[in-house]
Amino acid sequence: MRAGVVTPGQASSGRVEEIEAPTPGPGECVVQTLEIGICGTDMEIDRAEYGEAPPGSPYLILGHESLGRVLSVPLGERELKAGDLVAGIVRRPCPECCPSCADGQWDMCETGHYTERGIKGAHGFMSERYTESPAYLVRLPQDLRSVGVLTEPMSVVEKGVDQVFLAQRRLHWVPRRAVVLGAGPIGLLAAMLLRLRGIQVTVCDQVEPTSPRAKIATDIGGEYQNLAGTSLTAFLSGKTLPDLIVEATGYSPLVFEAAQNLGRNGALLLTAVTGGKRTVGVDANVINSDMVLENHIILGSVNANRDHFLMAVRDLGAIHVLYPLALEALITRRIPLAQWTQGLTKEPGDIKAVVEVQK
Ligand SMILES: [Zn+2]
Ligand SMILES: [Zn+2]
Repeated sequence: MRAGVVTPGQASSGRVEEIEAPTPGPGECVVQTLEIGICGTDMEIDRAEYGEAPPGSPYLILGHESLGRVLSVPLGERELKAGDLVAGIVRRPCPECCPSCADGQWDMCETGHYTERGIKGAHGFMSERYTESPAYLVRLPQDLRSVGVLTEPMSVVEKGVDQVFLAQRRLHWVPRRAVVLGAGPIGLLAAMLLRLRGIQVTVCDQVEPTSPRAKIATDIGGEYQNLAGTSLTAFLSGKTLPDLIVEATGYSPLVFEAAQNLGRNGALLLTAVTGGKRTVGVDANVINSDMVLENHIILGSVNANRDHFLMAVRDLGAIHVLYPLALEALITRRIPLAQWTQGLTKEPGDIKAVVEVQK
């Protein structure tokens, strides 16, 4: 069977490799891969900035955003059956099985020795078939076939937003206004999730208001603000400040500007991983005083556990009913497996590129 692989540590090594089809271990399902979403993490791995092959393997099968169809289930399996649509969970507990991993919160792993399918020490899902334990598969309704590949990125958004709401249980928090920085897949999925919770959302980016990204923001009943040539501070000046800001641009200086534009008791959620080095001068006294005097929190969030995947499936279903076109418009390009490396290069107008492993 064919698989999309890279050699970790070797830039631009993305290719299709003919590999042996996997045989299921005891208690494992066989899944036929349908679609794989490509994101910045895959691009980083192909640039040799990140990524780790499984022990003993010369390559890493890429792909952590998956949609597949169950071909067979192990004897005695009650949850899943052949024909079910599934998304694979990415992270696996650390070998030490730290208290968080033991509790199913491998997204909070304390040792950092976790593995991640398609990223760190474990093969991903971008092969025609893969095997997996039902514990790491979540079932999707059949009507999510066209957007189910968004389950993994949505799970990341679910975790972040859930964490904010958990943290904000420290007070009586009824968020009314949110600002989402960045109209990429994570930002737009966050905007959809917040709209689902009845929150007024402004999505900020630097693209034209006529662009498809901006259109998605307004199609879900949100607002779009082009910050090109202006700033978040200038845009929010004189307005009621947001209860929640979600940072999803990956432009780290914006974190500090956002911190100074939070409403009272507000939360700033950071979702982007920023590699390399960037130094900025910040007004530390103002940021500190604002945080103290207005009870702010700044919260970082990464990855997702099984609960967040289940939330993602539930909410993708609701969004698909409310805003089907906006949700489907997130996927701007579908690429056959043979040409999957084309997905590693951003094209104008790209939001989410998806590899079509099986039609
Ligand atoms: Zn991703
Ligand atoms: Zn752990």
